[in-house]
Amino acid sequence: MQEHGQKPYRARQLFSWIYKKRADSFRMMSDLPASLIETLEKEFILMPLKEIDRQTARDGTVKFLFEMTDGSSVEAVLMHFHFGDSLCVSSQIGCNMGCTFCASGLLKKQRDLTSGEMTGEVMYVQKMLDETGGRVDNIVIMGTGEPFDNYENVMRFCSTVNSDHGLAIGARHITISTCGIVPKIDAFAAGHYQFNLAISLHAPNDELRRKLMPVDRAYPLDELMASLKRYSTDNHRRITFEYILLAGVNDTDAHAKELADLIRGMNAYVNLIPYNQVDENGYRTADEKKALHFYDILMKNGVKATLRSKHGEDIDAACGQLRAKHEKAKNSE
Ligand code: SAH
Repeated sequence: MQEHGQKPYRARQLFSWIYKKRADSFRMMSDLPASLIETLEKEFILMPLKEIDRQTARDGTVKFLFEMTDGSSVEAVLMHFHFGDSLCVSSQIGCNMGCTFCASGLLKKQRDLTSGEMTGEVMYVQKMLDETGGRVDNIVIMGTGEPFDNYENVMRFCSTVNSDHGLAIGARHITISTCGIVPKIDAFAAGHYQFNLAISLHAPNDELRRKLMPVDRAYPLDELMASLKRYSTDNHRRITFEYILLAGVNDTDAHAKELADLIRGMNAYVNLIPYNQVDENGYRTADEKKALHFYDILMKNGVKATLRSKHGEDIDAACGQLRAKHEKAKNSE
């Protein structure tokens, strides 16, 4: 605001119109001077995206495909849990991390999303929920993209939705999920943020992790775990490790024991995730019995774990799947 020659209280008014009254246009901001409204209309847009597709699963999970002003598209997924509604937001257009099991990497990164675009994903869904008195209770940055490869914008986005002047979503209701970019984990630790940190682990040793996640070559497990231990100790925060169970790849008893050895003693737990199959790569999800057995081994070996239930199974719920389908259709037109 100040850089536009405006008084700071104008920013508060603007935030209130945008986030509390959910204004759809600058024109309706009746306590702003006409000249400011004119400038705002010329230089900014209130909703930087539009919905171009939607899939609703039988369990109520809704996947949105949004188009940005430059014509690129991103996904967001709304899931209903007993503890409230969670929105999974994308942080980049495409992704360069190259995890072999993930559909997002089918399309290379085109660009980072701005904090305004990420906020747009939340505002769009919040406005939809307003119609039935609902609320985005939780945000997980687990859509397409690597949030710590777009660190500044992601942190600005988190601050905006967390702010009392913004959507006032509590920091502990916002989770950043990273594939393990160590210098940014260190920066996050130094910032003493209260947002939750989740790490996509998916393998208990470098040899296997490298096959699944190329990022492991740049930041091997000993560096990653050391950084996480520093973060957890300095910030007194619990870490979530995400572990997708891939049949015959990372789901044996030996893997479970190795995983337990890696994590035991840390303030952390493992979230075991069923794999959403992606046609293009041939990985299969471990069956339920196997998943429960894996869970038991972790618990018996002193590591807390949860088994996540599947959401949106009958839609293209895997990160990047809906978008990849659209891009394919576009290219074959
Ligand atoms: N780049 C970040 C955030 C996006 S991925 C990260 O790696 O954490 C969010 C989570 O979804 C990660 O744990 C990722 O490994 C997982 N994931 C990717 N594809 C999946 C699929 N097809 N089924 C289940 N989980 C998947």
